[in-house]
Amino acid sequence: MISYSPKQIKTGFTVSALSPKILIVEDEPSQVEILKFNLKPEGFDVRVEMDGESGVQAAIEDPPDLILLDWMLPNLTGIEICRQLRRNTQTREIPIIMLTARSEERDKVRGLDIGADDYITKPYSIKELIARIKSALRRPRASVVEQKISVGQIEVDMRKHKVYFDKSPVDLGPIEFRLLVTLMQSPERVFSRDQLLDMVWGISASLETRTVDVHIGRLRRAFNRAGCKQIIRTVRSFGYSIEEVAV
Ligand code: CA
Repeated sequence: MISYSPKQIKTGFTVSALSPKILIVEDEPSQVEILKFNLKPEGFDVRVEMDGESGVQAAIEDPPDLILLDWMLPNLTGIEICRQLRRNTQTREIPIIMLTARSEERDKVRGLDIGADDYITKPYSIKELIARIKSALRRPRASVVEQKISVGQIEVDMRKHKVYFDKSPVDLGPIEFRLLVTLMQSPERVFSRDQLLDMVWGISASLETRTVDVHIGRLRRAFNRAGCKQIIRTVRSFGYSIEEVAV
């Protein structure tokens, strides 16, 4: 029933295709300016926070596709931020590239141990940084390559492309499958219809947002048939989310 290849799954899920959102957490204004100046023309949607606490807060409130995280920050260090982001279900899959002025091997290893995906040592070439960002965005998120993901009583076997509710199989078309997995990767997060179009249908989609409603309807009906009364929450005039308490 599912006909797309694993490669397509990866690109469909990892990034909001139109303009990937990058959160920069960096306290030096000159560094911030250089990053903004160079990343915006590459089509990235850039948000900046200048201290650790606001960085963590911003990542949780509006999860970006990637975080550029300075190592040396006032209050919370980059390492502590990295740990906090990895502990939070909203943010634990987001690729993190650490920007570090320290070049000792020991520190690099520590940076990767605490869950950063990559690091780059200052002064870095912007060209290299952009290449690293693009490569991190292409990599599938951990949860996509995980064999199983679950929310409440819903379980998805990613390898077999099978969906279960309370252990019973639920039959879904390919779009509904991708919609479901996208929502399940960030439980409780509310996605707008435009975000879902980007993430599920991808960059070439020039579809009306109503298309999302049609497929959400199909997804709901498939789960209703399997005995699940409520799976997706509609947030009026905004979009949809999946709840832990799907019943
Ligand atoms: Ca700094």
